[in-house]
Amino acid sequence: MANLILILGDQLTRDINALENADRDRDLVVMAEVHDEASYTNHHKKKIVLLFSAMRHFARQLESDGWQVHYQAYHPDNQHQSLEAVVGEQVKRLNAEKVITTECGEWRLHEQISGWHERLGVPVEIRPDTRFIASKQEFADWAEGRKQLRMEFFYREMRRKTGLLMTSEGEPEGGQWNFDADNRKKWTGKPPAPAPFRIEPDAITRDVIGLVDEHFGDHFGTTGDFHFAVTAEDAEAALEHFIDFALPCFGDYQDAISDTEDWLFHSILSPYINSGLLDPVTVCEAAAQAWYSGRAPINAVEGFIRQILGWREFVRGIYWMNMPGYAQENRLGNTRALPWFYWTGDTRMRCMHKAIDATRRNAYAHHIQRLMVTGNFALLAGIKPEEICDWYLAVYADAYDWVELPNVLGMVMHADGGYLGSKPYAASGKYIQRMSDHCANCHYKVNKSTESDACPFNALYWHFIDRHRDDFAKNPRMGMMYRNWDKQKPEKREALLQRAENLIANIEKL
Ligand SMILES: Cc1cc2nc3c(=O)[nH]c(=O)nc-3n(C[C@H](O)[C@H](O)[C@H](O)COP(=O)(O)OP(=O)(O)OC[C@H]3O[C@@H](n4cnc5c(N)ncnc54)[C@H](O)[C@@H]3O)c2cc1C
Ligand code: SF4
Repeated sequence: MANLILILGDQLTRDINALENADRDRDLVVMAEVHDEASYTNHHKKKIVLLFSAMRHFARQLESDGWQVHYQAYHPDNQHQSLEAVVGEQVKRLNAEKVITTECGEWRLHEQISGWHERLGVPVEIRPDTRFIASKQEFADWAEGRKQLRMEFFYREMRRKTGLLMTSEGEPEGGQWNFDADNRKKWTGKPPAPAPFRIEPDAITRDVIGLVDEHFGDHFGTTGDFHFAVTAEDAEAALEHFIDFALPCFGDYQDAISDTEDWLFHSILSPYINSGLLDPVTVCEAAAQAWYSGRAPINAVEGFIRQILGWREFVRGIYWMNMPGYAQENRLGNTRALPWFYWTGDTRMRCMHKAIDATRRNAYAHHIQRLMVTGNFALLAGIKPEEICDWYLAVYADAYDWVELPNVLGMVMHADGGYLGSKPYAASGKYIQRMSDHCANCHYKVNKSTESDACPFNALYWHFIDRHRDDFAKNPRMGMMYRNWDKQKPEKREALLQRAENLIANIEKL
């Protein structure tokens, strides 16, 4: 009897575990564009185009490799609008012996698939996702018994495991594990940032753009100027483009923000790595090779590899170890609704406007915009974690629950009580001024703190420090901030708190 092999939209690689030992003549691969997956959040239009088009290209590739594929293209009138309904129908039609799939990236879907055995009446084999360097169990074993989980130590384990940037004596290349201290330069326009890699949409992608404009018109963002790669071959070309043109400066300007350049020296590879078009280890090896051949400096290459080998694996481990309770965490007790300008970009705060506008156009903003601009504002303003998490899940082409949730709820909102980060990434306008050229063009004045045109980040920062004294005053990494706060004159403190209260009361008008 035949098996039914389900391949999800973020599993677009021939190496996916579900295909291992399958019989091309007998088994059936099932892929489906369904309403339930495309609409459970307000996904950016470009993200839907990227995934539907990449799925269509991948299904064609499988067929040309000799696989039998049942592919359901999206239509609002399709009878089956959930993965369960599509799989259930094909199980019956095929009289399938079992369903085979690779573990998915989201607790919500994981729960559903775990119930299929009962509801569909066939065994369901869920195979581990071997695209990750650490399995869920390996991460849990590493974490067991540790009081605090620190990415840096886990990252070193991953370096040892893969041998990436390791000498034959088992030492880190360049004599250090981490070159982060070298990676904090402000970018002043030189060297020029490379143009991002672009692929013009082919006929399949153009069809999908039409479909998304027609049926997902109320979703966030635009389909205009779609230029993402949608095949593994083109994603590899995007990787080469990054290595040749951006990697050499990736480290130096990793934390920089620009008023004019959306992409700077970032790789823009996360949409491909997360959907299966690129393999994370291959990406890291290509970067390491660039250092060995003298094409990129160690601070850039180590910094880049640490993001993938360290942070990416680390947040995934945290997600699976702590779900489903993790999604409900709100240890700072935030209650404020997400301001509407997160969806429109309609705010006089230049840094926020620029980050949201880029997000709307590109389904992309780089890490520091996500962390220190839109994230930092949500933290300082006390936005409900659930609402800001929903926003991040919707607006980025690379967003999947397993990676978005720990980054937002843990790293940005500190809603997990410091499980993921030892201190909140709270910062005043000074940080944004130091790392960007936004402030010179802003309606607000970064050097002011209590006046009506003062940068909102300044007063909100001190309000955050003040209202969370019980949470952070004993944190050794925050002690200096409390000493600085306590040193200020009572009138100044009062004026700052007043200004912050006023900003919060008028948050929609900022
Ligand atoms: C609030 C917030 C939300 C985020 N949401 C997502 C998300 O939904 N999906 C996502 O893939 N990343 C997310 N990140 C992490 C990071 O911002 C993006 O991976 C990165 O901006 C993607 O752009 P890039 O490919 O140009 O990355 P680069 O800056 O070129 O970095 C290289 C690669 O490292 C990996 N990486 C870097 N930082 C992280 C991180 N913190 N966690 C996991 N992987 C990382 C990515 O695979 C990325 O492609 C989030 C970060 C923050 C602060
Ligand atoms: S002044 Fe404040 S709000 Fe304006 S760009 Fe600078 S940090 Fe952002």
